[in-house]
Amino acid sequence: MQTLIDRLTAVVDKNTLFLADDISEKYFADWSGADPCKPSALLKPKTTDELSQIMALCHEYDQPVVVQGGLTGLAGGATPQASEFAISLERMNGIEDIDTTAMTVSAWAGTPLQVLQDSAAEHSLFMPLDLGARGSCQIGGNVATNAGGTEVIRYGMTRALVLGLEAVLADGTVINAMNKMVKNNSGYDLKHLFIGSEGTLGIVTRVVLQLQPKANSSHTALCALPDYKSVTTLLAELKRSLGPGLTGFELMWDNYYNKVLQVESDLQNPFAEDHPFYLLVEYKDNDSVSGAERFEAALFAQLEAGLITDALVAKTHQDAEKFWQIRDGIGELFKVLGPVSNQDVSLPIADIGIFAADLDQRLKQKYANIGVLLFGHIGDNNLHVCAYTGREEDKVAINRDIMLMIGEYSGAITAEHGVGVLKRGFLDQSRSDSEIALMKTLKQAMDPKGILNPNRVI
Ligand SMILES: Cc1cc2nc3c(=O)[nH]c(=O)nc-3n(C[C@H](O)[C@H](O)[C@H](O)COP(=O)(O)OP(=O)(O)OC[C@H]3O[C@@H](n4cnc5c(N)ncnc54)[C@H](O)[C@@H]3O)c2cc1C
Repeated sequence: MQTLIDRLTAVVDKNTLFLADDISEKYFADWSGADPCKPSALLKPKTTDELSQIMALCHEYDQPVVVQGGLTGLAGGATPQASEFAISLERMNGIEDIDTTAMTVSAWAGTPLQVLQDSAAEHSLFMPLDLGARGSCQIGGNVATNAGGTEVIRYGMTRALVLGLEAVLADGTVINAMNKMVKNNSGYDLKHLFIGSEGTLGIVTRVVLQLQPKANSSHTALCALPDYKSVTTLLAELKRSLGPGLTGFELMWDNYYNKVLQVESDLQNPFAEDHPFYLLVEYKDNDSVSGAERFEAALFAQLEAGLITDALVAKTHQDAEKFWQIRDGIGELFKVLGPVSNQDVSLPIADIGIFAADLDQRLKQKYANIGVLLFGHIGDNNLHVCAYTGREEDKVAINRDIMLMIGEYSGAITAEHGVGVLKRGFLDQSRSDSEIALMKTLKQAMDPKGILNPNRVI
């Protein structure tokens, strides 16, 4: 009887199939820190048709596969598990079309996010998705994880940008849903099954995304605030006064802010005094003069109202970069903190302040010498928690404590990074039994043999 590898070799391109020592270590793991594992085979199809044939054969032979985009995922979903074939989208790469009138882009799933951003900018358009992994992550991976990032407050998560897509199902069936229209209520909107399902329901191969006009000016301020209540009130006030131009609202607790300044010795604290909260606010406008005036007037009004204790408006691009460097200092912290429980969770905005104080207190009671650092995209309910004791053995227990507390507060165990492997055991903290049952019904209907990204998400 012919083996699966023989059958695959007969149908795929000579640059598609890799075995044994020809599989580079790059494909053994994603960024999550999940244990690396060599896939039994690596497939890098070039076309949808080739991928469809690969999946039809894997389906026939009950061969489990793991889908790999840019491998920057933080939930372990793209890390191979024993006996899986890895399917990398990296050769299905490139932009098919940019429509400057409808402001849409159609691209292959393996296109790096930064390529999309740069191509949009060349047409004076703006790709409204940005994250630190932009150079490596792929748009297919962004769609599969429903990635967030820094401008969600204005443009929504990846789901809000996707007009259409093409996907290959576990049995090789190609679903062509490359819709380009904003309005299309013709039956079920199937694209949503693939967005955020982390490759468990289908492999995204092409996408159509809505772009936006490029803003002409960007204004940034770093504000100091006295308490969490002022943060939420300020958010509502700035939404009213700045409208949709409010593109960033990034909160840092003093524990995070001070730690970054301590570790990154080239950064200076721009404030003379200490404050409990620091907030990075960003506003974009099409007119640089009136935009600057509007931004400063909105902040000044809240200084007078007492919501803001102190505010520094960036006068130059370099000033703005320095402010963002403090917010993005987490990368440097990871290099020095040792084992860190790094959680990305969501909570109703009014509860985040109470949750944060409660979490800090509970963890400090339970673990000796624990450090707790808090920051997040508060405008989109998103809190990042970094907790560290320096002891690897505490990490799993701290992760668990945080997940269970999220259940108690009716939050989401993952805001952006997804469930993957690492949070699979805690899905019931954020989803009801009936929701999980429906997820399983969908999985069974679309992948009855369970060969696509098995043991992930549900
Ligand atoms: C420095 C850094 C900063 C980050 N910042 C953010 C952030 O701000 N916001 C955020 O949301 N995330 C962030 N992430 C996480 C990560 O970049 C995102 O989850 C990203 O969307 C993953 O894309 P990828 O192409 O690397 O996917 P991968 O890591 O390759 O895969 C992620 C998951 O999607 C599946 N998958 C990948 N491609 C496809 C496809 N074409 N079809 C179906 N399934 C697929 C995989 O099987 C896996 O389950 C960050 C990561 C790093 C390393």
